[in-house]
Amino acid sequence: MKYKRILLKLSGESLMEEKQYGFDENRLSDYAKQIKEISEIGIQVAIVMGGGNIFRGLNGTFKGFDRVKGDQMGMLATIINSLALSSALEKEGMKRKVFTSIRMEPIGHLYSKEDAIETLEKGEVVIISGGTGNPFFTTDTASVLRAMELNADIMLKGTHVDGIYTADPKKDPTATKFDRISYDEIYNRGLKIMDLTATALAKNNHLPIIVFEMNTMKNLKKILRGEKLGTLVHN
Ligand code: UDP
Repeated sequence: MKYKRILLKLSGESLMEEKQYGFDENRLSDYAKQIKEISEIGIQVAIVMGGGNIFRGLNGTFKGFDRVKGDQMGMLATIINSLALSSALEKEGMKRKVFTSIRMEPIGHLYSKEDAIETLEKGEVVIISGGTGNPFFTTDTASVLRAMELNADIMLKGTHVDGIYTADPKKDPTATKFDRISYDEIYNRGLKIMDLTATALAKNNHLPIIVFEMNTMKNLKKILRGEKLGTLVHN
């Protein structure tokens, strides 16, 4: 296998399937099956979940919520999603541990790099919830941060689109997909694949990221086998 330890970022939106809000149980179960498949072949898997299917702080401000309170609601949303994924992994017979970036026992263990690495080395799946624990950040930034702390070989950003395009392929039929793209080019083209904080942090620390479509079964395993799926983001 190409990578030994990965940080998998799953957006809240990709959990929704056809729904407008919340998550689809079958989608969660499919994700759990794909995660089981790679964990069983010895890949160490740490997961950061998004929360956009439930609440985003910035959107809340348009409805009159205070931004910090809204972001805290968003962070709680990532914890809800993480517990749902943990439950789906449990159904698959997987050992896993949910960490929270904010103290919240007994819902999860307070995150620490050492505990997370120890859990990974035991072959258990690590789920890190609550984003960075701070408002004004995103779970993409949290993913880059945790990938670096845990010394992951790569960050895999699983979405419902099969990579990074020159424009939104749903709106622009002439949009073309990149097989590889540098951080500078993402910035220069103004591509909205990740927020700037996450992009800058990944670039400064030379973290490679693959953006790929997670909703097709076996895609995760294919990437780990070195098949060229999605878009590789590099320095
Ligand atoms: N959030 C935050 N700090 C963090 C991570 C997330 O305040 O470190 C909040 C923020 O309001 C964000 C929401 O949690 O909009 C959900 O996270 P995100 O939008 O990254 O989820 P995704 O788009 O990946 O589903």
